[in-house]
Amino acid sequence: MKRFLSLLIILSPLLAVAQADYYYPTAKSLNKNIPTPQEFLGYPIGSHHTRHDKIVEYFKLLDQLSDRFTVEEIGKTIGHRIQLVAKITSPANHGKLEAIRKRNLEGGTDIPLVIQLGYNVHGNEPSSSEAALMTAYYLAASDDAETLKWLDEMVILLDPVYNPDGRDRHSHWANMHKGSPLVSDPLDREHNEAWPGGRTNHYWFDLNRDWFLGVHPESRNRIKFFHQWRPYVMTDHHEMGTSSSFYFDPGKYSSNNPVVPAFLYDVVHPKFAEYFSKGMNSIGSMYFTEEAFDKLYPGYGSSYVNFYGGIGFLFEQASSRGHLQETTTIPISFGFTIRNQFTASLATIRGSMGEKELLRKLRQNFYSSAMSQAKASPIKGYVFGDAKDASRTNAFINLLLMHQIEVYELGQSVSLNGKAFEKGKSYIVPTEQTNYIMVRSAFEKDIVYRDSTFYDASTWSLVHAFNMPHAEVKTPVSKGNLIKETPLTSTPPITKSSYAYVADLSDYQAHKAIQQLQANDVIVRSSMRSFVMNINGSERTFPHGSLVISVQQQKIDGDKLFEALKKVNQSTGMEFVSVETGLTSKGIDLGSGSIRTVNVPKILMPIGAGVAAAEAGEVWHLLDQRIGLPIAKVDLLNFSRVNFSNYNVIVMVSGAYPTDKPTIDKIKSWVQAGGTLITFKTACEWAIKQGIVKEKLVAIDTVKNQKRIDFENAADTEGAKQIGGAIFQVDLDITNPIGFGYSDRKVSVYRNGRTFLKPSKIPYNTVAQYTPTPLVGGYIHKTDIKNVANSAAIIYSTDGAGRVILFSDNPNFRGTWYGTNKLFLNALFFGSMISAPSNFGGEGDQE
Ligand SMILES: [Zn+2]
Repeated sequence: MKRFLSLLIILSPLLAVAQADYYYPTAKSLNKNIPTPQEFLGYPIGSHHTRHDKIVEYFKLLDQLSDRFTVEEIGKTIGHRIQLVAKITSPANHGKLEAIRKRNLEGGTDIPLVIQLGYNVHGNEPSSSEAALMTAYYLAASDDAETLKWLDEMVILLDPVYNPDGRDRHSHWANMHKGSPLVSDPLDREHNEAWPGGRTNHYWFDLNRDWFLGVHPESRNRIKFFHQWRPYVMTDHHEMGTSSSFYFDPGKYSSNNPVVPAFLYDVVHPKFAEYFSKGMNSIGSMYFTEEAFDKLYPGYGSSYVNFYGGIGFLFEQASSRGHLQETTTIPISFGFTIRNQFTASLATIRGSMGEKELLRKLRQNFYSSAMSQAKASPIKGYVFGDAKDASRTNAFINLLLMHQIEVYELGQSVSLNGKAFEKGKSYIVPTEQTNYIMVRSAFEKDIVYRDSTFYDASTWSLVHAFNMPHAEVKTPVSKGNLIKETPLTSTPPITKSSYAYVADLSDYQAHKAIQQLQANDVIVRSSMRSFVMNINGSERTFPHGSLVISVQQQKIDGDKLFEALKKVNQSTGMEFVSVETGLTSKGIDLGSGSIRTVNVPKILMPIGAGVAAAEAGEVWHLLDQRIGLPIAKVDLLNFSRVNFSNYNVIVMVSGAYPTDKPTIDKIKSWVQAGGTLITFKTACEWAIKQGIVKEKLVAIDTVKNQKRIDFENAADTEGAKQIGGAIFQVDLDITNPIGFGYSDRKVSVYRNGRTFLKPSKIPYNTVAQYTPTPLVGGYIHKTDIKNVANSAAIIYSTDGAGRVILFSDNPNFRGTWYGTNKLFLNALFFGSMISAPSNFGGEGDQE
């Protein structure tokens, strides 16, 4: 349907010709009824950063004007920005689009080839979305025979902005600092974004790691759309260092994922490289391949599709980061970067058209190889489930279902490797299933890699991230129903008590429940010791940390308390047991001094330049999205001016923090007055060096008699010594408030840093300690394994009425480590229950 355009600003035709000559010099016939991006926006592409809402408007306009275009809104970001995908194909194909989609999912080859172009997952790599505008325009306007053939024989899905919130953050920065004339000095503010920059999404997460983890709505919406369409090709356009050139696949051979059939890397990547190089040669742009970039991790936009019978392509363009910036040769302009991305986009379409048969073969090979691998595997399935924590188990199932992994109920209760798996609370993932390659990626921890230099994590076994009790089965286990939707946590409804309510902390929703109760003015107490009570005729153990909510010792009356508990029970699935007596059958009674009031956390987190934005964002996201607890994010510039007494918890993630005496003294006296300071990774080193705690770091073994190595091998040798990210086992003191709610002392943790804490001299202050042979999965250099083994993972150190809690690692890694972020939440809520040994008798029972 064509409509008359009255709103368009028609710019100088000369400028329009210049743009056409620059971006698509070979285009012969362009439909004048389709406005160019320049005509629509009112400025030439490359002269300004286009706002996300204008991109959305342009795509919606193309939807109206062109019968080659349909635009689908697939969801919204955290910042309420629209996520859309354009489906671009011939008018005839548009008439049967739904039939094509379904046939494609069945594996049909008698239909147009489905491919997807994707842009700007990193918000401050903006050339890609501008190129998306150009690509969309070209596909809507070009009447060249080649374009018409593309449209007849392909369905091109085009997502112009993978990360709209980050894109706008960066675009605004670049536009608001743009000079006229342009300033190419790399030190100009235009080229140096303020912390945290525009790379990440609202919560400072890298969305180009989230394809596998699905923590954020942006990714969830995209992954859902992906599985509706299963394209054969996916592109992912990025930017890299200003003085670099352009990169396209194939990448570094050694970083190809060994689980993915090699045909993809050995045959299809090199074939497409011919098309990419031809495109770049034609405009005189320099490029490189094979030297860098990781294809291992399934959570990149350029790798996720590799696990579903398609092929991903990564493009990396040297960034102008701003409109014009000096380099070691000539200045690089925004327009130049856009042209390269646009050229790569058209080369992808051209390659897909030319290599249609190869792509069909890739998919066939992939699924037949997956099936034969599955049949040959000695592992017949993975059984999992935490009977005490339905919320965490369900969150894990939710993630598996997101990846279209088949999950079944367990047919009968079984005991495997000494672990009991209860029917109704445990599940099985059989290995013999279509998506076996993804099953391996989610469960295996020991995939063998060709290299020891990792761009990112070296293992991503989700089962460990969730600290999920699991077992491999080598013989078939009876399975029940196929799980179609994430199970809901069902708990018995609460009955009214006139005396007290008690609750076990094992469920992942416990902290959310506490937060909601506290927000309703309920005083919540927690037990330092376990106790046993007779509940409806049977003995039930309430482990360390169990909550005790007295009906009388409250600011609100019994009816209001019951209403609050009922609401929390419904919203969190948390079970509260009514009791009419304070007398237990074993252990402490409910009025014991060992039952202490749970802190209402008032949290401050210093942020800003020098602080690890990803770690800070993970804390913020966890508290916002999962707990509903506000946290004050205070810029380091204002840190020393803060009245600390307004807060009872300070969280310091990895970062470079103040070392001036007044600030250090202020922190020390705040701790002594009862504050809880929580530090992660390098912030622990800072606290130790500044004398805020009297703990020590492990003395690192220095390598003696090192062999001489050639210069060329320096980078790889040093790279192999980094801890890119691996999984380790710690022994957790589950009687310490930080270990509350855990029933197994052995916990998997994620380590990607080099902070090695020495166990405390005070024997009970080491809350978690790495086991003597701690490596669970992933790669670590042999010299570092000694540093990790037996070192401390969590230490507490009391000072006056307060305490410092040191985490050698980040317990909230990428928002996915459900297994350890509970330790952090415990530190926030229960940290104040930790006091010096002289107070161990309880709050008020000493003479
Ligand atoms: Zn990037």
